[in-house]
Amino acid sequence: MKTINVEYAIIGAGTSGLGAYSKISRKTDSLVMIQDGPYGTTCARVGCMPSKLLITAADYAHHLYTSEFFGVPASGRVDGRKVLERLRRERDQRFVANNLRYVNKIPAHHKLEGRARFIAPGQLRVGESVEVNAKKFILACGSRPAVSEVFEPVMARVLTSDTFFELEDLPRSIAVIGMGVIALELGQALHRLGVETTIYGRSGKINALTHPAMQREALDTLGTELDIYPSGQVVSAWEDTEGAWIEYEKSNGQRFSRVFDRILVAAGRLSNVDRLGMEHAGVDFTEVDSATVDPQTMRCSDYPIFIAGDATDHLPVWHEAFDEGRIAADNALSYPEPVPAERRPPLMVIFTDPQIAIIGQSFRQLEGREIVIGDLPFTSPRHVVWNKDQGRIQVYLDARTGVILGAELLGYQAEHLAHLLALAITHGMTAEQVLSMPVYHPSAEELLRDVLMDARGKGGKFASENITHSKIDRLA
Ligand SMILES: Cc1cc2nc3c(=O)[nH]c(=O)nc-3n(C[C@H](O)[C@H](O)[C@H](O)COP(=O)(O)OP(=O)(O)OC[C@H]3O[C@@H](n4cnc5c(N)ncnc54)[C@H](O)[C@@H]3O)c2cc1C
Repeated sequence: MKTINVEYAIIGAGTSGLGAYSKISRKTDSLVMIQDGPYGTTCARVGCMPSKLLITAADYAHHLYTSEFFGVPASGRVDGRKVLERLRRERDQRFVANNLRYVNKIPAHHKLEGRARFIAPGQLRVGESVEVNAKKFILACGSRPAVSEVFEPVMARVLTSDTFFELEDLPRSIAVIGMGVIALELGQALHRLGVETTIYGRSGKINALTHPAMQREALDTLGTELDIYPSGQVVSAWEDTEGAWIEYEKSNGQRFSRVFDRILVAAGRLSNVDRLGMEHAGVDFTEVDSATVDPQTMRCSDYPIFIAGDATDHLPVWHEAFDEGRIAADNALSYPEPVPAERRPPLMVIFTDPQIAIIGQSFRQLEGREIVIGDLPFTSPRHVVWNKDQGRIQVYLDARTGVILGAELLGYQAEHLAHLLALAITHGMTAEQVLSMPVYHPSAEELLRDVLMDARGKGGKFASENITHSKIDRLA
């Protein structure tokens, strides 16, 4: 057994692990970063980048069917092999290659390959033949797709986001299980690329949004284009010569079966912390719950163990993983002295069409607080020009001060208004302050101006005539 003694051990060489590495390696040579599986990060290999490459191909396919509206009839067909080849080429030669260039520059004695798990407090086993003794640990081990055992009989036809992008060609038909970010993004893209796609949800809601009216509008809008069964559950699955069958029970108890070439399971992810043998780490296992991971330091209870990125149950998005790796590193370096970080306001974008975005505090998080809601259809002269006027925007203001607290958006390229709102929220701006900026005509930003004016109209001077959260709830 080979033994390595270091001050710092980082588990995982993804976005958060590499962020932690870049900080710690500037201060000391006494560290090791352990990686199980291929380098390149989830984001570049099987996450953000390949999914956006697929969605862009789907956008082009969609233009073929929609351009006639503008007097520009188009014809063409989707070549699934070429779509996937191009996706992999861009992914591998640009995004993964960039990452590997960085990893290759890391000195060999800082890298260790194999699956790490705790065997005692302060001690890891990596694979079967290496032990690492460290004083401080950063668990940046990410998450993995959760696949329910109901799919076991059809595993040969089951895909997850980890395997989907390796397909040689697009399937003829696919069942997408889940109605979260990954399911909706990939499901709509596959539909637009000509794959017969059916989406099977569970809760009946698009939970990325929290205001009931926004949830309803998102489901109605996506449901006009996509074949969606929003609430129920898959009760059994089996395979025959026709393909993979799934039996689905709708929430009203009605059951039906359909057969597909493939099944894409995108119904949630599990933190890989559960595979680290935490029961041997000297930490009470129950303490590794999110409740005891302090978001300001990423520290797990009083131990010199830090958790960062998708391994936590905090917002599982790239920029948070990036920040958390660095926060964990700063706090590991200064341990036992904490260096609390100020976290950015939450921001999440779902790249469906129309896009979904949520910024700052959600409607649900504002429960009990006096707010004013600016609420408009997602349309402006510019959206009409684009023929993209579906959706809705809600902006939540503090009823007393007019400070923008949060927003939920469903609309064409909502990502851009979401970033403007994120800037305003980051700097604690009021609606009035945002309204003092110039807005060009005709632009999508006119919608932001209008929704803030809508809120101002409802809130008077943000001192009287306020609509409380509970009243809005009743209106929704
Ligand atoms: C399909 C998809 C689309 C996405 N789209 C977006 C998007 O558009 N925008 C966005 O912001 N976010 C998106 N995300 C989320 C984003 O990719 C993640 O938030 C981010 O990559 C998480 O980085 P991480 O460092 O926490 O984890 P990872 O990059 O997953 O790194 C963790 C690493 O740890 C390794 N590991 C695990 N266990 C062990 C062990 N025991 N020993 C050693 N190594 C181990 C893993 O192999 C992995 O390489 C998407 C994710 C997916 C799956």
